[in-house]
Amino acid sequence: MPQKTKNTPMMEQYLAVKEQYPDAFLFYRLGDFYEMFYDDAIKGSQILELTLTTRNKNAADKIPMCGVPHHAAQNYIDILVDQGYKVAICEQMEDPKLAKGMVKREVIQLVTPGTMIDPSASEAKENNYLTALHENKDKYGLAYVDLSTGELKTATLDSISLVLNELMSLRTKEIVLDDSVTKESSKALESLKIMISKQNDVKESAESSYAIQNLTSTLEISVIQHLITYLNVTQKRSLGHLQKAVHYEPSNFLKMDPFSKRNLEILQNSRTGKKQGTLLWLLDETKTAMGGRLLKQWLERPLLNLKEISSRQNKVDNLLKHYFERSTLQDELTSVYDLERLAGRVAFGNVNGRDLIQLKQSLEQVPKISYVLNELNDGTFDDLLKNLDPVEDVVDLIESAVVEEPPVSVKDGGLIKEGYSSELDKYTDAMKNGKHWLAEMEAKERQETGINNLKIGFNRVFGYYIEVSKANLNKLSTERYERKQTLTNAERFITPELKEKEAMILGAESKAVELEYQLFADIRERIKDQIKRLQKLAHAIAILDVLQCFAVVSERDHFVKPKLTDKKHSVNVTGGWHPVVQQVMGKQSYIPNDIVMSEKLNILLITGPNMSGKSTYMRQLALTVVMAQIGCFVPAKSALLPVFDQIFTRIGAADDLIAGQSTFMVEMKEANHALSHATSNSLILFDEIGRGTATYDGMALAQAIIEYVHDHVFAKTLFSTHYHELTTLSERLPALKNIHVGAVEKNGDLIFLHKMQPGPADKSYGIHVAKLAGMPDNLLKRANFILEKLESQKKSTSEPVADEQKISIEDEDKGPQVNEAQLSLFQPEKVVYKKSDQKVLAEIRET
Ligand code: ADP
Repeated sequence: MPQKTKNTPMMEQYLAVKEQYPDAFLFYRLGDFYEMFYDDAIKGSQILELTLTTRNKNAADKIPMCGVPHHAAQNYIDILVDQGYKVAICEQMEDPKLAKGMVKREVIQLVTPGTMIDPSASEAKENNYLTALHENKDKYGLAYVDLSTGELKTATLDSISLVLNELMSLRTKEIVLDDSVTKESSKALESLKIMISKQNDVKESAESSYAIQNLTSTLEISVIQHLITYLNVTQKRSLGHLQKAVHYEPSNFLKMDPFSKRNLEILQNSRTGKKQGTLLWLLDETKTAMGGRLLKQWLERPLLNLKEISSRQNKVDNLLKHYFERSTLQDELTSVYDLERLAGRVAFGNVNGRDLIQLKQSLEQVPKISYVLNELNDGTFDDLLKNLDPVEDVVDLIESAVVEEPPVSVKDGGLIKEGYSSELDKYTDAMKNGKHWLAEMEAKERQETGINNLKIGFNRVFGYYIEVSKANLNKLSTERYERKQTLTNAERFITPELKEKEAMILGAESKAVELEYQLFADIRERIKDQIKRLQKLAHAIAILDVLQCFAVVSERDHFVKPKLTDKKHSVNVTGGWHPVVQQVMGKQSYIPNDIVMSEKLNILLITGPNMSGKSTYMRQLALTVVMAQIGCFVPAKSALLPVFDQIFTRIGAADDLIAGQSTFMVEMKEANHALSHATSNSLILFDEIGRGTATYDGMALAQAIIEYVHDHVFAKTLFSTHYHELTTLSERLPALKNIHVGAVEKNGDLIFLHKMQPGPADKSYGIHVAKLAGMPDNLLKRANFILEKLESQKKSTSEPVADEQKISIEDEDKGPQVNEAQLSLFQPEKVVYKKSDQKVLAEIRET
């Protein structure tokens, strides 16, 4: 950078501001542009594809510079912040025309990834959470806020890994830390690759005292205070829409680690990272952005409390029974805009006339929604109905004050209705009369001079003028006309009379514009006072929207109301299906399955060919559980389910190579996580555990894991495996049962029945699957040859190790001896067409 002494006063000012925001792009307002200088300009021009120029072209030390027009700045800010940068917006704080010396400039807002509040339309159904963390003796106070809606929540967590889980669930883009957070914790947080911001001191503010009102934990109070101080420091404005912080207990919700959520594709498709193909995608029939966001939150946190679940279920049931009212309700909801974010913008002060009209239109739907809800209400909706406050005073205010189609800008007038302010009406009259008078004057002048094309016009430099074409100049005789401007074909004149009217008209116009802005700001303030009511209403509407969405989807996809119990730990799902797979492949080709596990049966050991539907079956149960515990109906003919406390999955995913760990390592870590955290009320899904290592290793581990779950954990567990040897465990383990997916061979081809049947599968069919995958014939022949060889070599049966030989870490040496043939995954038996398979196949063909 050049020496400060050489700089112009403006660059001095720039550098002084920049010094305070070293890690942000500084958007420095210069007239109609925001300019960037030095490194900001070099980097910014690359990211934003702007032309890089220089400020002082002729000097030796040129200053790199690039800029964006102020009216288009938001787009550029969005791009930078989206890419994980901060942007400091530095405004001119006085009118440059009136300023004496340097124009005063100040940073009016620091936009960061966690404080973005102008999401694009595609993100309307997403929350953008800013998180903060405060640590004290291995306890973690965590808080998060969505600045656009004012939602504020806090919890106390016991370990940094729980913090990481929570941050991943929230998909937070920025976390605010203070000095209490240890180096180790900071390091762990760095692995998430999100923006880490610092806020060490705490400043009392109206927002923070309000926010902490219901909190008791000092840890949580402290983290909220840091978080709000950070908001005050960066946003530099009133944040009246921030809600009281709500304390939550993560243990009050069904727990799923981020890996399981990803495996089950609840919110994100594991391949594309998008919504398509997920449970959210299937369920999302919400009509409002608020409902869309709430549905996601519910999917993130299914309930454990039976009463709360029933309350949702009963509402869905009621909506299902009233088709007509429900479709009316949907129509009404469609016209409700994003009340939460509108309220946020009112508080934030960046609301415009159009937003207020949207607010009014949305509020006008409320009485209609209440009416329909009252029609169908059998008591189940009482709690929601009482929160459907139509906020009539706000409707009336907007109705009386704001025109139906206001302009985007709030500073150019044209947004306040006639009759709202007598002072404003006076100016408007003057403007109107003035214009009328000008028209009359024009007619009069034409008559007096006999010049038919004489006209009265206006420009910024000379104001109003009388224009006469050159050809007619000779007709203009009186002294009254003072020449102002000469054009090629015409001359422009003014008269004292014209100037007098001009003063009146222009004065009225600028006064009106100024007054309109004041009136608008006043209206905004008055609405701001009602923000808490608007937020409460918004929440009620969001809930209603999600419930109607459950009803719509349940009807569309023929879901059934599950019976949930927290007493018995038994599962009985009949005719169930994987809702997303069925949706994608079509109902006709999907084979429904039962999942039955009595109280005494904890483990289903699933065998069957690759691609036959084992993992689909396992995921089906997990999704059914999640759907049931968010209060939705479930994909089955009938379903009886316990309330599960946690779901653990270890299901093969294509992208297992996370952070340089091998697939097997990830597998073992996830399995270990499940084994050490699961309770007898949990659900565990283990898909082919152990396949990532040598056969015998893998099989030994698989068996040991099954035994451990059976003897110590007692969680309901679905365990799929290729190791047919494990199926004999059922003889020893009373709470384990074998099931398999049927498949039949026909003319050398394999037909999957996708139907779960009791007992173990008879063989693996790996080569058939390879054939399905289109492997060359020669290769397949060769594989068959090798298989036959191995099978004929096979001497001993490959039974699992009996109890007394159990593999344990202390006792490794006693592990089983391996023989070559056992290394094959294939079984030696000949292909048998099981009767039951044929029967099922026949059944399928008939339907
Ligand atoms: P596996 O885990 O046994 O290898 P998957 O569960 O991945 O098999 O299923 C493979 C494919 O089989 C799925 O993508 C789906 O197309 C199909 N499939 C699974 N279950 C069913 C079913 N019940 N009915 C029809 N098709 C199914």
